[in-house]
Amino acid sequence: MGDVSRRDLFRIFGRRVQPAPRPVAEPDPLRVALVSGRHCLALTSRCSVCIEQCPIPGAMQWDAGLPMVNPDICNGCRICQQVCPAPTNAVRMLPRPPGSNQSWQESPD
Ligand code: SF4
Ligand code: SF4
Repeated sequence: MGDVSRRDLFRIFGRRVQPAPRPVAEPDPLRVALVSGRHCLALTSRCSVCIEQCPIPGAMQWDAGLPMVNPDICNGCRICQQVCPAPTNAVRMLPRPPGSNQSWQESPD
């Protein structure tokens, strides 16, 4: 492993993802956020930035270790998408499903 100690590895891989300052974004009533579990870092890097930065209480909540969006509460502001640090952004903004009243989340597989 050369010059890299176990302590260094822990520091590199064990650190928490730090939240960025919350960007300003306008609500979009025609859009709703969807988290892709396949790209989300919540399980591998303990990321929780989107939930911390979401301005609407209850719009994002934990479900089996992944953020889940409640489309009835989400205002489509895209802040969660803007702050997501995943190499492939894990938040997609989709057209709001008409009449939807269910919380939804894309499967991690
Ligand atoms: S689009 Fe806005 S309101 Fe909806 S989950 Fe993301 S940050 Fe929260
Ligand atoms: S969706 Fe993005 S910001 Fe939210 S927990 Fe996953 S990686 Fe972090």
